[in-house]
Parts: sequence; structure tokens; C-alpha cells
Amino acid sequence: MSDVFGHNSFQNHEQVIFVSDETADLQAIIAIHNTALGPAAGGCRMYPYSTVDEALNDVLRLSQGMTMKSSIAGLPLGGGKCVIMGDPNSPKKDGRLRAMAKHVQRLNGQFWTAIDVGVSAADADVMAEECEYIFARASQYPDGFRPSQFTAYGGLHGIRAVAHFLNGSDDLKGFKVAIQGAGATGSLLTQHLSEHGAEIFIADVNEQVVNQVANQFDVTVVDPNLIHTLDVDVFAPCALGAILNETSIPQLKARAVCGLANNQLERPEHGQLLLDHNIAYVPDFVVNGGGMMGASTVIFSTPNREKSLSNIATIYDTVKDILIQSRDKGQPTEEIAVQIAERRIEAAG
Ligand code: NAD
Repeated sequence: MSDVFGHNSFQNHEQVIFVSDETADLQAIIAIHNTALGPAAGGCRMYPYSTVDEALNDVLRLSQGMTMKSSIAGLPLGGGKCVIMGDPNSPKKDGRLRAMAKHVQRLNGQFWTAIDVGVSAADADVMAEECEYIFARASQYPDGFRPSQFTAYGGLHGIRAVAHFLNGSDDLKGFKVAIQGAGATGSLLTQHLSEHGAEIFIADVNEQVVNQVANQFDVTVVDPNLIHTLDVDVFAPCALGAILNETSIPQLKARAVCGLANNQLERPEHGQLLLDHNIAYVPDFVVNGGGMMGASTVIFSTPNREKSLSNIATIYDTVKDILIQSRDKGQPTEEIAVQIAERRIEAAG
């Protein structure tokens, strides 16, 4: 295994905890990146990583991303994340979630965790039976409500800000958006955009999922291999990370990229490549912070849906400000967003 302290993504993590529980067949990692603004908070991912290195790389990148996401969203929270090595469809899932939750409990509120890939809001309720520091639980919302609705609402405001930046108006009528991924965030973003009159193109590797969306909304279904190459106003990645790289960026015809997937840039320098191609890129951790803004309120105040939504709508101003600064300074948007987030953390000491 690689040297943890010398790892490319280590980036001054406060703690990296390797968790093991033989009875539950649990192998997991908790990464606490920064707690200057408050307790670390971030989801719990369950994924069949093939190596510990792969899991470590994922948790470190995601945990640092959470520090940035919470800071730029103005939340009193730091950044952390945990990953469980395992198949979320395994019958061992419940036992692993419970064992993991017991370890999170031992951290005594220094780290709060929630849903992520492979861990649903119902799973978060299972974890909460063993641990006080679990949020985004199904039982915390009215029936049928999903925390992804907060995320998608932030996505709508991000795309409105992009429209204003590109066209001088945030009217989305006829605004062309290509959405990659028709899962939780992609489908809910489709709903918002369609209500605002946007022209939507959508792709998913899972035909059943994309057909469900196509049956509900007026969208054009596109080959998943081509979705990023469409001549549209915005390309919205809502599926995978590392989607923006040397190969894909020269193929983009969109004027902007604004989507809800985490870690869209394969490497930081791809932010400069997007700028060189005159593509306005909205950093993922800025536009996809709505889920965190809405779901995390249980940690530090009484949840209030209306207040959360108006807070999430401020993503519009943040996105516009970053795009304008990037144009004026000729600096990649991701760098500007990181500087804003880091200034707030430094001010907190
Ligand atoms: P999801 O699993 O519900 O949906 C993802 C969809 O992408 C799936 O339907 C999958 O089939 C599809 N997909 C996978 N590879 C694809 C490809 N190559 N081309 C097209 N489609 C592909 O996940 P989600 O909750 O919508 O999350 C999507 C992304 O957004 C993830 O990166 C996640 O970390 C991020 N994110 C989600 C939330 C949230 O509230 N759910 C919050 C912040 C960030």
C-alpha cells in the first residue's frame, strides 16, 4: 500500500482511520480532512473497491472535496468522508453498516456521516440505530422526499447563473442542456429544467433508467458515448467523476459545464484546459452543495425546508461571481472557488 502521508491526495488530512471488524467482515476508511469550521461531515460510500489504494484515493479526494463544499456553502462544518469496501448488494451490507456506525459513534461527534453511492437514506436509518451522528436519514423527511431534491434544486440555480453569464438573462426557455446520467440527480434536474422550458438531451448507460425519464418529460435521449459532444449551451455531468480530461475536453461543443457529479476534473490542470477551450466550468463542489446545505441542517439547527431552499438558491450568486472572476482574471474557476473556500477556513483559524 502507498505511503499515506506522502499520498498525492493526502493534502493535510487531520485524521485517516482504517477501520476493521472481523465479525461483520468490515474493512473501511474514515478520512477527516479539516474541522476548522465545525465537525467534519460527509457521506458514507459503499463500493466494491478492488484494492485498499483505490479506496484510500477515493476517500481522501472526497473528504477534501467536502471541506471545500461546506466552506463555500457557508456551513459551520468541516470536511470528512468514509468508504466501506464491499458490494452494496451483498447480504453482509446491514452488518457492515452497523459495524461502521459503531466506529463513527466512537468519534463522539467529531465526524457526522450520511448517504452516498451504495448507501441510501433508508440505510442511514439503519446506521442511526447504532450511532447518533448520522444525517440525511429517510425518517427525517416526509414520505417520498429524497435529499437529492436539494442537490437538484442547487443544480437548477447553477444553470440559471450560467445562462445569465452567457446570455445576460437567466430565462431557460430554449436553453439547451445535455445531461449525462438519469439517476437521482439527473432525473430531478431534468424535472426542474423542463419546468423552466429548457431543451433537454439526456443519456444513461442504463436504458431502463433513461426510458423512465423519457416517459415523464419532453427530452431527447442520446447515445451515452456522445452526450458530452453535443452542440448545447450546457453539458451537465450527473453520473461519473473524472469525466473532464484531455480526451473529453477537446470533444466538448458546449459553452459551459455545470453538473452535479463529484470530482468532475480528472486532474486540477484540466480546469485550465477548459478555460483554454473557452468553456465556462462551474466547479462541482460549488453547484452540487445543495444536498449538503439542505440535509446537514439537522447537525446544527432545526430543519426547515423553506429556509433550506432559500439558502440553496444562493448558489446562483456564488456561481455567477466565480464565473465573472474567472473571465476577468483569466484564472480557472476551480482555483477561484478553492481560494474562496480556503479564505473562510483560514479566517476561522
Ligand atoms: P445515481 O446512481 O442515482 O445516478 C447515476 C446514473 O449515472 C445512473 O443511472 C447510472 O446508470 C448513470 N451512469 C453511469 N455511468 C454513466 C455513463 N458513462 N454515461 C451516462 N450515464 C451513466 O447517482 P446520483 O445520486 O444521481 O449521483 C450522481 C453523481 O452526483 C455522483 O457523482 C454523486 O457523487 C454526485 N452527487 C450526488 C448527490 C446527491 O444528492 N445524490 C449530491 C452531491 C453529489
